[in-house]
Amino acid sequence: MIDVIIIGGGPAGLTAATYLRRFHRSCLLLDARDSRARWIPESNNCPGFPQGVSGEELLRRMRTQAETFGTRIEHAQVDAIVAVDDGFEVAAGEQRWHARRVILATGLSDRLPGGDWVEQAVACGAMRLCSVCDAYEVSDQRIGVYGPADAIGVHALFLRAYSGTVYALPSDSGDGGQSARDARDAGVQWCAGGGSLGFGGDKCSYTPPGGDPIVLDTVYPYLGSDTSAGIAAKAGARLDDDGEIIVDADQQTRLPGLYAIGDVVSGLNQISVAVGHAAIAATHAHNALPFVARGGRAAGAGP
Ligand SMILES: Cc1cc2nc3c(=O)[nH]c(=O)nc-3n(C[C@H](O)[C@H](O)[C@H](O)COP(=O)(O)OP(=O)(O)OC[C@H]3O[C@@H](n4cnc5c(N)ncnc54)[C@H](O)[C@@H]3O)c2cc1C
Repeated sequence: MIDVIIIGGGPAGLTAATYLRRFHRSCLLLDARDSRARWIPESNNCPGFPQGVSGEELLRRMRTQAETFGTRIEHAQVDAIVAVDDGFEVAAGEQRWHARRVILATGLSDRLPGGDWVEQAVACGAMRLCSVCDAYEVSDQRIGVYGPADAIGVHALFLRAYSGTVYALPSDSGDGGQSARDARDAGVQWCAGGGSLGFGGDKCSYTPPGGDPIVLDTVYPYLGSDTSAGIAAKAGARLDDDGEIIVDADQQTRLPGLYAIGDVVSGLNQISVAVGHAAIAATHAHNALPFVARGGRAAGAGP
């Protein structure tokens, strides 16, 4: 019986592992190795890295830190969590593990425009996926905001605070409603919808139907995301309307002993939030587990 199984080895799961091992708890981290953070070419808002850090480098450092304190990390795609009498059974294919507590840190995945160039465009900054993270880096540049007309107005307005040249690039022919009017009033250039996105050199472009390509320094697509909360929902956790897990102030789902942290939880999707969730969940799980005195009898224990 393991004290805590952590599912997911991104910033959230790796931080939880470091905390739990430093509480002298046994813990196993199961990871499918597809962290959203690996897409980050360079993060400049991650605390402690004034010169920036790539997602891969950050993950490498966090894995080293977790392993330094004895975390066992296994490659696995978990497909079920089942509450049992004394905790949880976690399954990945034919493999089974048992733990008193489970912390789910499985993140989400962004829906991306079609095209085999997308990964390259993200790597060079021609396409960006998180304006809270990196809009500062494209201040005063030509910014495109791509996605359904109803969804992009609010994001275009947010980005208008960074640049005087913001184009809304609707993927459909909707008029975008009030949020589009607000964006236009603030100076966003609203293009004809239903055009195509392209990539060449180190720039993305948008070609409206029957029009000429507009070359942009960067494009933010807003096409939604796919949650990984399905296994938690099957186990009995409650999800919000966006499919993200609802937790209490201790990061616990409505199933006692099942925690959720990071992007899989309803809230702001940021590394600093994910590691904050991890500290809260790991500390609560530790305090809720049976007390174990170290190196001798606990004060007040019987003979
Ligand atoms: C291009 C880009 C740039 C970004 N820039 C920044 C930035 O500058 N600053 C910032 O704060 N944030 C940034 N973010 C957001 C940041 O990457 C996420 O908030 C962060 O990675 C969330 O961490 P997490 O641990 O919750 O999830 P993730 O990092 O996504 O990790 C989840 C892990 O769980 C694993 N997993 C999923 N399902 C299972 C399963 N069933 N079984 C086992 N393992 C599973 C996945 O394979 C993955 O390894 C950026 C994101 C992107 C895409």
